[in-house]
Amino acid sequence: MTQVRTRFAPSPTGFIHLGNIRSALYPWAFARSTGGTFVLRIEDTDLERSSQAAVDVILEGMRWLGLDHDEGPFYQMQRMARYKEVLAQMQAEGLVYPCYMSVAELDALRDRQMASKEKPRYDGTWRPEPGKVLPPVPEGVRPVLRFRNPPDGVVAWDDKVKGRIEIRNDELDDLVIARPDGTPTYNFCVVVDDIDMAITHVIRGDDHVNNTPRQINIFRALGKEPPVYAHLPTVLNEQGEKMSKRNGAKPVTQYRDEGFLPDAMVNYLARLGWSHGDDEIFSRAQFLEWFDLDHLGRSAAQFDEAKLRWVNAQHLKAMADEALAPLVAEQLQRQGIEADERLGAICGLFKDRCDTTVALAGWARAFYADVQPSEADRAQYLTDAVRPAVADLARRLESAAWDKASIAAAIKETLAAHGLKMPALAMPVRVLVMGTPQTPSLDAVLALFTRKKVVEKLSSF
Ligand code: GLU
Repeated sequence: MTQVRTRFAPSPTGFIHLGNIRSALYPWAFARSTGGTFVLRIEDTDLERSSQAAVDVILEGMRWLGLDHDEGPFYQMQRMARYKEVLAQMQAEGLVYPCYMSVAELDALRDRQMASKEKPRYDGTWRPEPGKVLPPVPEGVRPVLRFRNPPDGVVAWDDKVKGRIEIRNDELDDLVIARPDGTPTYNFCVVVDDIDMAITHVIRGDDHVNNTPRQINIFRALGKEPPVYAHLPTVLNEQGEKMSKRNGAKPVTQYRDEGFLPDAMVNYLARLGWSHGDDEIFSRAQFLEWFDLDHLGRSAAQFDEAKLRWVNAQHLKAMADEALAPLVAEQLQRQGIEADERLGAICGLFKDRCDTTVALAGWARAFYADVQPSEADRAQYLTDAVRPAVADLARRLESAAWDKASIAAAIKETLAAHGLKMPALAMPVRVLVMGTPQTPSLDAVLALFTRKKVVEKLSSF
């Protein structure tokens, strides 16, 4: 089999969201799992709507998710000379022809066709045919170039997602592939790129299905066989609309800022349109081992943030504490807090109750900054009745060895001395030290604080 070559070809118009980046995940995974090559191409020919900021989010988002490319990024705007070269070659071979029909004439044509209930399409006025006399070339009009679409037969492909698709050529009119100023149009650039970049598999959103027959015809006119196509169903947002930034989709990088893990995102996005039996949680390595084009889903997938959080929580739990620590340190840094070597152990103690690294940083905060309990917790737990026991515990902790077992012993002695049950002492101590009564086991929590801080907090009551 020839080497697999896939590509992701985003248009940098608006910030890339999860629905878009899923179209990067599959071609990336297919290239990685087959030992192929993954190409990144930025389709920036829409000068009005493209922006460097959007390119940056694409690059940053892909880097964050670990969707590394082997070639590129290639920018279409930098390939204009190449497109024009191919256009000239097509013109020389009679594969395209100039069309001088004005916009007003095209509009009139469309109105006539609509009035007689025909599908609006270019009528071939300027298409040269043997023996046909073309209208006189109007003066001062710069023509567009139209592609000479095959007049009959069908154009067909076996889509890896949608199955066989056949379109009659007489349904496709002669596509404009260069504007009057000579700039090439979208479908043409895509074909030249896919040929030059030797793409074997085009995996993209199904909003491009209508372009595919046109692109296939251009491939064949250029003497090339088209690649394999896989058109991915749309990603819907939680309201069931097509995901788009206009209806609330977030830029991919925002999920990083909100504390999601790249591997969890890959896992979640992978399941949004592909399956491996009933497996819901898997590692990146498993995904790459399992990924194939035969198990891409056919129906639209719906984004579900609660599910994403759940997937993230599973990955968070499974992740090694020391690997988690730098990610949580980053979140703390954003709050101006410098963590230290205790952070790995802190992650280990709290990760089971968190779904994001932001939540984890929320717990870790108590170890590095001064957190204060709420008034309600103060009123409920910091009562006069418990004051002597807390003071006693502070005293014992001042001289205890600073490890979990010794701290546990000091707590036990305090309980015995004051005739208290564990919660009666543990809750106020948690509230004082961590600012909340809900924490993991008290001895483990206290052992991760410095003795100084614990004694200080207990004595402040
Ligand atoms: N630039 C197109 C888009 O962002 C993708 C084109 C393609 O994959 O062929 O929708």
